[in-house]
Amino acid sequence: METLCDPFGRQIRYLRISVTDRCNLRCLYCLPEGGVRWLPREEILRFEEILEVVRVGASLGLTRVRLTGGEPLVREGLVDFVQMLRAIPQLADLSLTTNGMFLARYATALARAGLTRVNISLDTLKPERFHAITRFGAIEDVQAGIDAALDAGLHPVKLNVVVMRGINDDEIVELGRLAFDRPLHVRFIELMPIGEYFSRERLVPSEEILARLSALGRLQPTETPMGCGPARAYAWPGARGSVGIIGAVTQAFCAQCNRLRLTATGQLRPCLDDESAVDLLPALRPVVDHERLAQLIRDAVAAKPEQHTMARREAGRPRLCMAGVGG
Ligand code: SAM
Repeated sequence: METLCDPFGRQIRYLRISVTDRCNLRCLYCLPEGGVRWLPREEILRFEEILEVVRVGASLGLTRVRLTGGEPLVREGLVDFVQMLRAIPQLADLSLTTNGMFLARYATALARAGLTRVNISLDTLKPERFHAITRFGAIEDVQAGIDAALDAGLHPVKLNVVVMRGINDDEIVELGRLAFDRPLHVRFIELMPIGEYFSRERLVPSEEILARLSALGRLQPTETPMGCGPARAYAWPGARGSVGIIGAVTQAFCAQCNRLRLTATGQLRPCLDDESAVDLLPALRPVVDHERLAQLIRDAVAAKPEQHTMARREAGRPRLCMAGVGG
């Protein structure tokens, strides 16, 4: 089987797919509060078109797919789409990143359809603060989603916490504590300079996050189940889960980056931090051209930059693309 190798020797196996630009929340660091103009439906890739991309990508060496957004669970038909993806034999790992609001409704069906695992965003344990950060959400829905994911046997269940100084950094220890009693893998993510919300003062560096977690007891380096990504993982002796730290800004993990990102409009982006993209649409519409699709995927791999530049930025780069980059 062909492999996808970039000019810096990294083997690309992982595709993050934004299945929609739409979201039922407006998290402070992600979307503006009002006036979000969603894209017209015809601009969003149909599931059949995404399947073609994944099939060709899998024949070239992709083995892992993550569905994200926007909020993937607001897109109708997602469970059936998971089932279709599951039928692609090369895919060893099929995961979902969700805000969890609709997860209680879909977790069992998703697990039956073949979803392997799930990452759920949860930045606070305080109901009022949750509402303030997400501007729309009720934390009870996410808590029910976490319970449902565990009950459905999705494994591992990871929680994504974006840490913001003065907003939720006082909860690092309490959020970490979730890993004690249940098999939850709590990952603390440095706020990235994407979008207008970012400021240097709000960024809590990963070393500081680790130091605060260490107050709960001595942390041992560990592996998270199915970990292939950027988190450094640790566990407390006897805890059922783990904590992870994603130092996206201060400890860039570009040397290990193994991914491409497909936006909801069919742009294949070599790097989260780079607006440049390879447009797959000419190979998908009006008819699918598999050869051309394969070449465009190789082109995106060839265009992967060696490193992102987030560590050097003082302000958030404007979000030029609202079609989701599979962040
Ligand atoms: N709606 C889904 C969700 O909430 O998980 C999936 C899309 S969301 C864009 C994917 C992940 O990106 C979430 O875990 C979110 O917290 C993270 N994210 C978004 N903007 C970020 C930023 N500026 N810095 C760090 N993480 C960010």
